[in-house]
Amino acid sequence: MTDTTQAGWPVISTSEGLQPLDFVTGRVLPGDVHTILTFLCQRFERLVEPIVRSESWGWNYRPVRGSTNVWSEHSAAVAIDLNASAHWIGLHDTFTDAQEAGIRQILAECGGVVVWGGKWASSRPDEMHFQLRHDPAEIKRIAGLIRSQAAAATAEPVKAQNRIGTRQGASIVQWLDDQGRDSSFAARATLARQYGIAGYVGSAEQNLILLSLLRSGAQGKTYVVTSDGLNRRTAPGDLRDEALAYPGAPLATGMRWYGTGKTTTDDRGGTWVEGWSEWQRSAGQPPCWVHGAHLKEVGA
Ligand SMILES: [Zn+2]
Repeated sequence: MTDTTQAGWPVISTSEGLQPLDFVTGRVLPGDVHTILTFLCQRFERLVEPIVRSESWGWNYRPVRGSTNVWSEHSAAVAIDLNASAHWIGLHDTFTDAQEAGIRQILAECGGVVVWGGKWASSRPDEMHFQLRHDPAEIKRIAGLIRSQAAAATAEPVKAQNRIGTRQGASIVQWLDDQGRDSSFAARATLARQYGIAGYVGSAEQNLILLSLLRSGAQGKTYVVTSDGLNRRTAPGDLRDEALAYPGAPLATGMRWYGTGKTTTDDRGGTWVEGWSEWQRSAGQPPCWVHGAHLKEVGA
């Protein structure tokens, strides 16, 4: 894998030097990029909908979802995902027409340096996703305009809505009912345990996370980690990179790890399992891959 993204940004393998963005759990490039993405989030809350922080992400050292050899723009710290479960990758029309008008207005205010994933020319939609074009001169110019507040002074014909997306607050009860499944609190609490969501009380945030996991087709398998030392970095492009992109979250023997039910194999026939540790889950991090030889499946 080359160490630039499709858009031409350099890949960044560590969060050192990146800057937290108030609206999301992850970090982004400091300076002009941070200025533009902060402005985007502020305007999104004004014109589109509230942002649920634990469902919204920034830098992530990983390939494009579904690929092992193309770096995600997230790995360059120039992309963000907003309200992931309400606007999950692959879903169409998760925003109302009014919300989409708000997004168009924000893109216009950002002078064309922001690209929205909702209308990729080809391939699957990714309506939660926004990224910056690799155009440092234009980014500098737009960031300067934002700092001087010229962009924020534009008219505001569109107003934000209180609910998120087109899905009536992304209701897990509705979703389970639609699937003909038990949507009682007790049933949801059992599901939450299976998916590694600790202390389920049925909060809006927990329900959004659980819904996003269910929608992704996750099976909710629980594992125990059987060996230490998984928190090492290996060659770029190796699936292991994704598992190892969380230096604060070593996987130690005896620790619980929650699989999504998705597996893949490497060129030596080894099995990799997608999932997350409790630390990642509580930090709102997306799943990573761990070699199956380091995991033993147990009951929830
Ligand atoms: Zn994204």
